[in-house]
Amino acid sequence: MSKTTDSTGPNDTAAAPQAAQQKTDWQAYVEDFRRAGHETVDWIAEYLTNVSEMPVLARTKPGDLLDALPKSAPEKGETFDTILRDFDRLVMPAVTQWNHPRFFAYFACTGSTPAILGEMLAAALNTNGLHWKTSPAVAELEQRALDWLRQWIGVPEGWFGIVYDTASTSSMHAVVCARELIDPEARTAGSRNDMVLYTSDQSHMSIEKGAIAVGVGQKNIRKVPSDKEFRMRADALAKMVEEDKRAGKRPFCVVATVGTTSTTSIDPVPQIADVAEKHGLWLHVDAAYAGAAAILPEQRHIMAGVERAHSLVFNAHKWLLTPIDLSAFYTRRPDILRRAFSLTPDYLKTQDDPRAHNLMDYGVPLGHRFRALKLWFVMRYFGRERIEAMLRSHIQWAQDFAALVDAHPKFERVAPAPLSVVCFRYKGSDDENRAILEQVNASGRMFIASTVLNGKVTLRLAIGQLETSWRDVQEAWELLQKAADKL
Ligand code: PLP
Repeated sequence: MSKTTDSTGPNDTAAAPQAAQQKTDWQAYVEDFRRAGHETVDWIAEYLTNVSEMPVLARTKPGDLLDALPKSAPEKGETFDTILRDFDRLVMPAVTQWNHPRFFAYFACTGSTPAILGEMLAAALNTNGLHWKTSPAVAELEQRALDWLRQWIGVPEGWFGIVYDTASTSSMHAVVCARELIDPEARTAGSRNDMVLYTSDQSHMSIEKGAIAVGVGQKNIRKVPSDKEFRMRADALAKMVEEDKRAGKRPFCVVATVGTTSTTSIDPVPQIADVAEKHGLWLHVDAAYAGAAAILPEQRHIMAGVERAHSLVFNAHKWLLTPIDLSAFYTRRPDILRRAFSLTPDYLKTQDDPRAHNLMDYGVPLGHRFRALKLWFVMRYFGRERIEAMLRSHIQWAQDFAALVDAHPKFERVAPAPLSVVCFRYKGSDDENRAILEQVNASGRMFIASTVLNGKVTLRLAIGQLETSWRDVQEAWELLQKAADKL
């Protein structure tokens, strides 16, 4: 339903009743929303109250929901009641509950209440921040919220920040910046096939994917070996760069990880920065998960050396109470980012003003969602103190869980647990570990993931949900032990 803006002049007698009717229709449409909106908020509150009793993993089979949904869209509009009923009946059973307090897989991500409201308002405003003037609020609130976040996580002062959807997108932009710095011709001539990127064998696959997407080529991606604690070996990096240079290649980028996906190991950024500076490489830091921990003064050391990097990514949609998606990308070289991505056709030209950022100049997407609104709600609602308290508890519980594993004769820990993730295994075969994983996940009471470390299947418990308590971690441990006893 759309609201007309046609003029109804004083002599336009036919148009007047029509305009009045349209106004009434519009009002009814808004009132319909008001009623359903209240009901939906009540539904969300009920859901958040009861989510801990739901099975964590969806219990549907592949294709169940697809088959239950009509094959074509309705000709006539339906009521909110009907739609919400089907949402409950059909969609909910197919939802894996990321908001569950015993969601211990991957990196948990909380759909916190302030963020839910922020998302709702962002959708209501439907404002698109491609240019400053198309939405001054998007441009300036994002700038302010990202600067608050920058201070919290210890990114150096003066770095430019922008919100993208995911860390994968952010890191892809970092790779393009790296290429732009070393080879500005690439923008017009295309990618050369001798540019080499380095990252550790523990880094997230998004780095490789980003490099593939921008034409680096998998054969030009070097996986630097990590040490026994899963941290990139800076000495091996230095050797690989030198060998590539001797072979006539052009090393251009190194990506360090602060908080790797499997074990949350922290790469030695200062030593990696030494190599990057010596050879003129762009240094990008992937702090997608662990950046949140740096909010804690006692954990700030994990960001050592970041001030020497060129860019960094942090995901608020991991451990910072912000529902997917919100990835913060920071760079000290916004000039390079802009040089790589700015492209303004006639239909998008605006007047220049040094304080007016046109976000479209700083990345692939033209449209720019008001994602920062939910982050601003989160930071204001919880404040640093409550966020610190949550992070501290999660880290403490991970340490306590690690101690339980260490004390158990049939389990062993496979990696250090510097933050809120513990990697461990049953002292048995890979199949036995897989069986434990399947059994605890099938219980519906918890969800953990696995990885492979030193060639062996490893169980991985990651704490990161706002609602999680120590009791939830204990319950997970009980379920794991029971599953092991049944082998
Ligand atoms: N980097 C790290 C270290 C990650 O652990 C992940 C995902 O878990 C990513 C990047 C990718 O994040 P996104 O899903 O936002 O692309």
